[in-house]
Amino acid sequence: MKRMRDYSLSVNLSASERAKREIIHRTYRLQRTNINKEFNQYLIGKYCNFTRTANFWDLFDKLDGIVDLSDPDTSLPNSIHALQTAEAIHNDANQPDWMALCGLIHDMGKILYLDGCDVDGTSKETQWALVGDTFATGLSISDSVVLPEYNSCNKDHTSDSLELPAMNCGLHNLSMSFGHDEYMYRLLIANRHNLPLEAEYIIRYHSLYLWHTENAYGEYENQIDAKMKPVVQQFNKYDLYTKDDSKPLAWSPQLRAYYSQLVSKYISSNLIIKY
Ligand code: FE
Ligand code: FE
Repeated sequence: MKRMRDYSLSVNLSASERAKREIIHRTYRLQRTNINKEFNQYLIGKYCNFTRTANFWDLFDKLDGIVDLSDPDTSLPNSIHALQTAEAIHNDANQPDWMALCGLIHDMGKILYLDGCDVDGTSKETQWALVGDTFATGLSISDSVVLPEYNSCNKDHTSDSLELPAMNCGLHNLSMSFGHDEYMYRLLIANRHNLPLEAEYIIRYHSLYLWHTENAYGEYENQIDAKMKPVVQQFNKYDLYTKDDSKPLAWSPQLRAYYSQLVSKYISSNLIIKY
């Protein structure tokens, strides 16, 4: 199997692969440098108001316009990655239908690029406050994070006067670095969705590799977090191992109908959503 999530700038890379990895490094350097607790709150306040409405598919199709700059494993538009993830789950008889819908929408928060700007890192060209693995702001960042060499650029990480949260306070009492996870979680809440709690965890924490893969933040986990973690880990396998640029799935009317029915069942009966 292909080695996933390889970020190294080793010597024997092709010129195009090296250029791609340098962009990944730049994206993470800017993310780590700029996102701290204060800036995180600013981003949430600015972007998570959801005062407009649109048809679900009109928004979803905007994912055709963005390729994740932090992802070493695919160069396909995000709409195709969404379908690859969703269909792998849909084709697994052991998984519930809502999880296939999670596959479809887990990265949909990247539509925020439509309102984004370079200084906030939310534009299509910058993306450092939109994509990439997340971390808890207001705390020091574990060395097991992707590209830990950029941790020293983070103001919270280097602060010697941090106010630590209470033990076992729950992940919801930490403020994860802003990106498509937090944006989409808040969008779903604004839409009063009917998805189970497991789905909220998948959407909100799928980029928190520090938690679901590296087992960081255990001291802040509560019992519900601990119960939900295996579901996020299960989802991660579909998110990570379905990336195959040689087999881009194509949409068909049948697939649209299947996922429309799931969106009506779990998010909005008439497919109109707040964003
Ligand atoms: Fe994601
Ligand atoms: Fe993804």
